[in-house]
Formats: sequence, C-alpha cells, structure tokens
Amino acid sequence: MDRILKGGSHLTGSDSLSGYRQQLEKDLQSGKLPHAVVLESQKELPIKETVSMICQWAVCRGENKPCHVCSACVKAMNGNHPDIYTAKLSGKLEVVNVEEVRNICADAYIRPNEADRKIYILPNADKMQIQAQNALLKVIEEPPQHILFIFCCASAKKLLGTILSRVTVYPLDYTYDDDMSVQQSYETALSVARHLTDTKGYSLLCALGKIDSRITAKEIIENLIAIVGNAIRFRVTGKAENTIERSLGEHMDMVTLSRITEILHTASDKLDSNINMNLFSAWLCAQLRRRK
Ligand SMILES: [Zn+2]
Repeated sequence: MDRILKGGSHLTGSDSLSGYRQQLEKDLQSGKLPHAVVLESQKELPIKETVSMICQWAVCRGENKPCHVCSACVKAMNGNHPDIYTAKLSGKLEVVNVEEVRNICADAYIRPNEADRKIYILPNADKMQIQAQNALLKVIEEPPQHILFIFCCASAKKLLGTILSRVTVYPLDYTYDDDMSVQQSYETALSVARHLTDTKGYSLLCALGKIDSRITAKEIIENLIAIVGNAIRFRVTGKAENTIERSLGEHMDMVTLSRITEILHTASDKLDSNINMNLFSAWLCAQLRRRK
C-alpha cells in the first residue's frame, strides 16, 4: 500500500501525503470502507492509483491487504478481475448514461464470482445527468452486502445531495499539513465557538455547516476543545486569550462548559468512524443545543 500511496504523491509533485489518502489507508486497514466512496481530484493520476489500491484491497486473498502479489491483486492491477467493473462512458462528454446505470443496478444484486466484494467504478461521476444519478439511488440506499461503488470525479459538489449523503468523500488533493488549512480550521472553530451561546441553534448550525470534511472536522473539534478549555480557565483565573473565550466564560457556567467539552470529545470519536458530514453537523448541533 505504501508503494502506491508514496509513489503517487511523488509523481504528483508533492512530498506530503494527502491527508485523505492517509485517512483512506486507515479506513482500509481497519476494514471500515463503506459500500460507496467518492474519490475527488483535479488530476487523473491520484484517482487512478487510489482506485487500483481500493480494488486490490477489496479482492485481495493475501494476509496483508492489499498484498499486490496474489492472483486477485494481479488481476485487479491488470484490469481483468471478474468482480471489478468500470462503467462504460458514452457521448462526447464521456459520461455514464442512465442505461448503463440500469445495467449496473441489475448486476449489483448478483453475487460476486471470485472475491467477497463486487466493485463498480464510475468515472466522470460529476458529469452524470440527474436522471442517471437518480437511477443509482436505490442501490446506494439499500446496498447488497457485497457491493462497493467508487465514484471518480473532479468535483464531488456536483453530485446530487441525495447521493452525497450516502457516500464517503475522499478529496485526494487535500493536503493535511497545509498551513492555510490549519489557520482556516482555527477560524472555523472560533466562529462555531461564537455561536455556542445561541440556543435556537440556527446560527450554530450555519457555522457547523462549514465543516465539510472529516479531516478538517477533526482539526476544528480539537481547536474547539482548546477554546472551551480556555473559557473554563477564564472562569477560574479571569484571564482570556481573546474576546470569544472571555464571552463564553462569562455566559456559561462550569457545568455547561464541561458538558460541551464532553460532547466535543464524543464528536472527535465519531469522526474516526465513517460518519457522513451532513449528519455529523446536524448531530453535533443538536447535542450542543441540548447540552444541559
Ligand atoms: Zn493480494
């Protein structure tokens, strides 16, 4: 697995491994990969490599999946494994059309031939017409156990919300140790903190809605835990680092602040599972409003 991931980041000109590819590697190792994933990248290569890695992992017969050497991995690499199907593209735009989606949906209920999973790769998924995306919904909503869908696209946002709410998105171009993203995470955490006193929850939900990926969510939650910790310190020492921490300390009592810290730790644990980000924001907002 290392070979593919590190090779990929080298070839794409970046020395740091994309945070999401690390996350993906973790999800694969813990067997947590869901039945449908979206791989998002502006470049073809990271998608190609990641698809290959996931396919090998899903069909591998070796001990350490993917082993890259068993006959199943070799077939996956050569593109001739019977349980891996790449959707046919048609038209000038090279899209998966509704007819092809119907073929896939019918086939998806038939058991795999050799592997434990049957994999469908959907290239250019963000160019699929609404009708074609809708035709996929049923099988994504109630997937047969052995199914794995891989949506490949340049922009996940162009997929229907009804699809996005049922898949896990891995933005492969996202760099975890990007200074900019660290700063943005802190600012998002501050904006969430500013709305923690809003018990109606609307502005809180808006602030939480800015959390759109699992990796940034993890950073934001960690920042929030620190901010609430500083508010607790303010109640004890009277000293605060900024006005938001001071205001939280002034408007909330010790019990509420401790309860919020507990909720944030639970939230952080939740992010280690494959939680959908829309559901996560809604869950967190409800918890924070019901904090007493
Ligand atoms: Zn293998």
